[in-house]
Amino acid sequence: MPPESFLTNSADETVALGASLAPMLRDARIVLLRGDLGAGKTTLVKGIAEAFQAAAQEDVTSPTFTLIHEYRGPDRTLYHIDLYRIETERELATLGIEDLSNEAGALLLIEWGEKFDRLKKLRDVEILLERTGESSRRITITQ
Ligand code: ADP
Ligand code: MG
Repeated sequence: MPPESFLTNSADETVALGASLAPMLRDARIVLLRGDLGAGKTTLVKGIAEAFQAAAQEDVTSPTFTLIHEYRGPDRTLYHIDLYRIETERELATLGIEDLSNEAGALLLIEWGEKFDRLKKLRDVEILLERTGESSRRITITQ
């Protein structure tokens, strides 16, 4: 499928877009969320998690320090992962991302995953978030 782009004009619109993407992620296991700090990656996950009935928006926070947050829904378990602070393949290996992705029903939503070629190869979907203004973002989905 060709990449599909959307524009949002507020954080709330990005949450809503995230929720609308859930059906598209039905068969995905590994989703890479790309974009600079503040682009809206974590904001988008709020909507995705809500749509999978895995977490309320306010319970989705940045896993920058904890590295992995788990949100359990009725059908899928979402693993929200932030690799911003992970620098080496060795550190990455300690997180056991591939084991998580092999669990039944797992859906991995990974911020800064593109730092690692291995994850770029494994990903099913990539979502790029670009800041186009103070409160506007272009969000492009590549399957
Ligand atoms: P990231 O995880 O990419 O670092 P966050 O989702 O944590 O980014 O933060 C995005 C910030 O930008 C939030 O403070 C949010 O309120 C703000 N923001 C403003 N406009 C938008 C928008 N259209 N979409 C997403 N976030 C937005
Ligand atoms: Mg984030």
